Amino acid sequence: MIDVGLVPQVPLPAVDPYRLLLDEVGAFVYTTDSEGRFTYANQLVLDLLGPNLRLEDVYGKSFTDFVDIGGDDKLRETDRRVLRDGETIAREEDNHIHATGETRTYWSVKKPLRDNDGNIVGLIGISHDITEKKRLEDKLRQQKELLDVVLDNVDALVYMKGANRRFLYANRHLAEVFGQPIEHIIGRLDSELMPKDVADAFWEKDQHILATGQRYTGEESLVDNQGRQRHYWSVVVPWAGAGGMPALIGLVTDITELHQLQEELQRQIRTDSLTGIANRRSFFEHAESEFARSRRHRLPLSLIAIDIDHFKRINDRYGHPMGDRVLRDFAGCAAHALREEDVCARTGGEEFCILLPETDLKHAVAIAERIRLATAACRPCPEHPELAITASFGIAALEERTPSFDILFSRADHALYTAKQQGRNRCCHQHMDGSPAPVRMANP
Ligand code: GH3
Ligand code: MG
Ligand code: MG
Repeated sequence: MIDVGLVPQVPLPAVDPYRLLLDEVGAFVYTTDSEGRFTYANQLVLDLLGPNLRLEDVYGKSFTDFVDIGGDDKLRETDRRVLRDGETIAREEDNHIHATGETRTYWSVKKPLRDNDGNIVGLIGISHDITEKKRLEDKLRQQKELLDVVLDNVDALVYMKGANRRFLYANRHLAEVFGQPIEHIIGRLDSELMPKDVADAFWEKDQHILATGQRYTGEESLVDNQGRQRHYWSVVVPWAGAGGMPALIGLVTDITELHQLQEELQRQIRTDSLTGIANRRSFFEHAESEFARSRRHRLPLSLIAIDIDHFKRINDRYGHPMGDRVLRDFAGCAAHALREEDVCARTGGEEFCILLPETDLKHAVAIAERIRLATAACRPCPEHPELAITASFGIAALEERTPSFDILFSRADHALYTAKQQGRNRCCHQHMDGSPAPVRMANP
């Protein structure tokens, strides 16, 4: 038994209770003399040093007789400092165990043992096997490093936000968008990092996710710290793992380029590539809705159908590229004569349409006439001053009984046919009831 300085008041039981206690503490406990030879080792130490060892087997022997400490000079130095200088030293130690052939890690505390005169007579060592804990810590650290590498290199903004609106995590990309180092983001309120109205809008969504526990996906827009409008695809997942406190994990992908591509594609789908004005498809879409709006609100609406006269001759005489140039010039000339809300479109080869919202027939005819005169006066090519173009115009206006845009269109088209028949370079219009179209003669 070891002398722990207690004098038992009752006779000692058959089994030494202190030894039993030390065998059960779950730590490695031993004492040595001043030469480092064992004077006591609890059961855990005995089991570590070798199979079926008893205290008598280790008594008087050194730790190094059983355990290979290799080049661990630090261990030898530690023992020296405890035994020679009387220091108490706590440190992590790696020991290669002969009995099992493995290396284990211990958190080891060593204190000097003194006699009644205060002389150092040995040391007491208490060690905890922290091998598993260390392995777990190493594994966790590796996993965290891996996660950091992945999250910092994934092409997305990743964050975790608590139910108190404070950021618990932000990856490198998000830090770049906020223009702040990561450590300045963690713990901060969303409203401290974004404009208040933006943060409040996010928070409203966040609250819904927290309340329903349901994953959210959707598109969002933000102005970054350089004032650029950016678009994001956002996935927000509720998470109950942050110390039991509800939190949200956000994975946000920057889709600005995709957005720009989509917008460009939409623009291209709606635009005539030669002239840059609206194409037939977008014109008819727009005209249908404008027709419905005008009927609903009983507003005037007019349509001008245009066809360039003898265009084939221009192509034949000056070549196709010159024909293209004439088409571009005509589009520019027509658009120049219109208001913002009017729509001029190329609806066919050398055919154009103009939709004039809130414009009655009289004003539409005046506009058509203005464009007709401007077209006739235009000389599209300085190298060919003789090259002049004219166009014919058919005009129709929405009347009370006009049932559909198609009917309005066919009336304008019919008026255009009349203009062609009557000699071209003129504006004609026709009423829905088919009454004779008052013809405005050309005045070239
Ligand atoms: P009209 O006065 O009766 O309208 O006679 P037109 O010659 O203008 O009519 P027609 O329909 O006979 O000819 C139209 C021409 O327009 C035929 C076609 O080659 C030409 N065209 C169609 N699309 C384009 C284009 O994109 N570029 C050019 N340069 N020509 C085109
Ligand atoms: Mg034509
Ligand atoms: Mg023509």
